[in-house]
Amino acid sequence: MQRCWLLSKDSIHKPIQLPHLHAVVLGRGPETTIKDKKCSRQQVELKADYNKGYVKVKQLGLNPTSIDSAVIGKGNEVKMKPGQQLHIVNAQYPYTVQFKQDLSGIQREVKRPREPLPVNNESGQATSSNTTKKNDREEAAVADRHAQVPKSTEGSGLWNQGLKVSMQDPTMQVYKDENVVVIKDKYPKARYHWLVLPWQSIPNLKSLCKEHCDLVRHMHNIGEQMICQCPHSDSLRFRMGYHAIPSMSHVHLHVISQDFDSPCLKNKKHWNSFTTDYFIESKDVLRMLETDGRVSVKEGTSELLKLPLRCHMCHRELSTIPALKEHLKTHF
Ligand code: AMP
Ligand code: ZN
Repeated sequence: MQRCWLLSKDSIHKPIQLPHLHAVVLGRGPETTIKDKKCSRQQVELKADYNKGYVKVKQLGLNPTSIDSAVIGKGNEVKMKPGQQLHIVNAQYPYTVQFKQDLSGIQREVKRPREPLPVNNESGQATSSNTTKKNDREEAAVADRHAQVPKSTEGSGLWNQGLKVSMQDPTMQVYKDENVVVIKDKYPKARYHWLVLPWQSIPNLKSLCKEHCDLVRHMHNIGEQMICQCPHSDSLRFRMGYHAIPSMSHVHLHVISQDFDSPCLKNKKHWNSFTTDYFIESKDVLRMLETDGRVSVKEGTSELLKLPLRCHMCHRELSTIPALKEHLKTHF
């Protein structure tokens, strides 16, 4: 089903859905987080037309609403297309619109945009037979997280630097802006698994402090945009968070669907790293930064990786990964 989204260019809030031919009135208020008194509570009326691929924007408030710097004028209505920029009031609060099947807007700054594909899709790289063995070997080098560096890469000192390479690789990038880049996880542990990384060189959670709040909030908002853009966001649940003790260098936010339907999910450490408190919710990281100016990781967290395998949906204990995967089919 096609959908249309209103996206805050400053990522000050989550994307707002614009239903087909249904008027949505926006302005100052909690939905936009705009507090500016110059903005009326009913500043604009937006009506998306999915068939025609545009949104009709009507200025309701007194102060000027504009599209690409042209003021609409109170009571007037103009058509806005993806790629154009709406300023809600007084050339402030920039927005774009995005139709569901059109990823060009959100990815417009990516040189070679690629629509994210489910792992089990035939075109998905993780299941491609040519690459599976190579990927297995590469991932083996990083899979045994928090243990010793595997022999094959021992000494190279580079095994945990792969994200820095991938984030610069246009074929891995699915979104980028001036602050962050989103890449597909090279060894996805679910049908959809992205990593949001800041361009700024920040090694890990421990390096984050209060001044990173805006950046971390932006990473969160971009993660939410990725979920909104996902063709299966209606049927799949997603979580966003950080591994308490990451294996890879350069801080990264995991955005992962909760089907865990992936051949790359191979062992207990993989499973427990996403389904126990080892996975720290993005919102909790932000809250810790805002209140304490740092992210704290509880003692004994690494022990969580050794917990028995437990279904994240019904909490049933399973004895092996194959048994768990079989069990997951009953939920999805
Ligand atoms: P962690 O450091 O535990 O938060 O997880 C690192 C994530 O990076 C894992 O989900 C890996 O599958 C993924 N990964 C490992 N190497 C690469 C790479 N070179 N490019 C992209 N993703 C990678
Ligand atoms: Zn279950």
